[in-house]
Amino acid sequence: MVERYQNYVGGAWTDAASGDVSTSSNPADHSDVIGEFQASNSADADTAITAASNAKEGWRRTSSLVRGGYLFKAATYLEDNLEEYAQAVTRESGKAILESRGEVGRAIALLQYYGVEGSNPVGTVVPSVNPNILLYTNRMPLGVISLITPWNFPIAIPIWKMAPALVYGNTVVLKPASATPHVATLIARMWEAVDLPAGVFNLLTGSGGAVGDELITSSKVSAISFTGSTRIGMQIAAESAKRGKKYQLEMGGKNPVIVLPDADLEQAAEITVSGAMKYSGQKCTATSRAIVVGNVMEEFTSLVVEKTMALKIGPGVDADSVVVPVIDQTSKDNIKSIIDRGVADGGTVLTGGGAPTGPEYGSGTFVEPTVITKVAPDAFVACEEIFGPVLSIIPAADAEDALEIANSVEYGLSAGIFTRNLNSVLDFADRIEAGIVKINGETAGVEPQVPFGGMKASSTGNREQGKAAIEFFTQSKTIYVDRSAT
Ligand code: NAP
Repeated sequence: MVERYQNYVGGAWTDAASGDVSTSSNPADHSDVIGEFQASNSADADTAITAASNAKEGWRRTSSLVRGGYLFKAATYLEDNLEEYAQAVTRESGKAILESRGEVGRAIALLQYYGVEGSNPVGTVVPSVNPNILLYTNRMPLGVISLITPWNFPIAIPIWKMAPALVYGNTVVLKPASATPHVATLIARMWEAVDLPAGVFNLLTGSGGAVGDELITSSKVSAISFTGSTRIGMQIAAESAKRGKKYQLEMGGKNPVIVLPDADLEQAAEITVSGAMKYSGQKCTATSRAIVVGNVMEEFTSLVVEKTMALKIGPGVDADSVVVPVIDQTSKDNIKSIIDRGVADGGTVLTGGGAPTGPEYGSGTFVEPTVITKVAPDAFVACEEIFGPVLSIIPAADAEDALEIANSVEYGLSAGIFTRNLNSVLDFADRIEAGIVKINGETAGVEPQVPFGGMKASSTGNREQGKAAIEFFTQSKTIYVDRSAT
């Protein structure tokens, strides 16, 4: 019997007006159906937005220390239930269990960080030209914020949006990806368990096509924070801009590493393979292109192939699996067609290129980790986000050429360089078009206490996480108080 889950709206578990449900399944074994989830429609979205709107004045007037206190309680709740939540992340997203534990740990760290924010100063007192005037700035919440999130970090991404949104005094409606509604339901349970006031957090499951419009266009929504594909993000930007709403978009990536001839090649290959293949490359910050300078191409490539072939392909519940299933059949087919196009464009597959065979892979959506070499910088495989375990190796004449290739794609999320040369490091850090820069490090993997986000088609530029989050989730007010009246 498949369990049926509900939306969480106004502090109550509710069915969708449509009366319909949809299911989610385990990418390692799609016959493992996780549950039935409400297929909400625009009427449900309006109900959830109205609940958030009704709660916003009370929440705004709640002390930020008290708001932060709820975040601390939520962090403790997650710590107490870490294993259950990590297993749920693995079951629904396919992620390796060690990485799922890390993701829940990150959600805990975010809740603690923004819990502290509740007691940090906001605003400044500024001298006025008039000595009778007290001149200061304050930060005000925006109101109701729609949070629209992808499936690949089903707990960390919703939390990294809602923790700052809530502590700065906003109320939220979360619309998780259709592939991972169960983990979102567990987030709602967390808020229920810590008695967050009704309507401050609301969960709405359902397809983006059915509820997205209302979440973006409703006059009761002040802002939209979205993470997902650049295609959907750009639609949201256009609709939000038309209505003068604030929006924040974190989107796709095509993240390069540059390997210079003086690099520690063993380290460079190890880190490149890890960045490209862990979680089957389904991270916005995954390494997708290795741009190799000069005569180390052969040695670097053979190290990469050797390390890739040694990776264990398997379900995320097995602690030694590195290359886990991709999210669904559509994604698997898409990855295969991009690999084939890479070959048609002149690339050579050195390892992988297909799906692993064997009964253990039968009902999961597995893809072999794939290394393609002799890839032209402007080939489709080298420019489009794949979201699969595929690494393109691209030759470059020199460091300048490598930088030009790295910057030639539309995306600009994360980028790395492997070298021991300080001048090369500093030049790269200055000129690479990416929001996250790694020196001798993996393009994936970031810390929550610093700003996160990309450039170009990867982001709208208003950073998430760390102190930067306050810029999006609040607006500044400048206050003049004249005390000269007698
Ligand atoms: P997606 O297809 O763009 O979906 C993201 C979210 O948007 C989902 O909740 C989706 O709902 C919703 N959505 C779809 N159509 C919509 C519409 N018309 N209006 C409003 N919302 C709509 O992305 P995904 O496949 O879930 O995630 C993978 C993508 O996310 C990749 O491109 C990856 O690079 C990106 N990503 C970026 C970051 C970052 O921080 N830069 C982090 C993680 C992932 P449904 O699921 O119901 O369609």
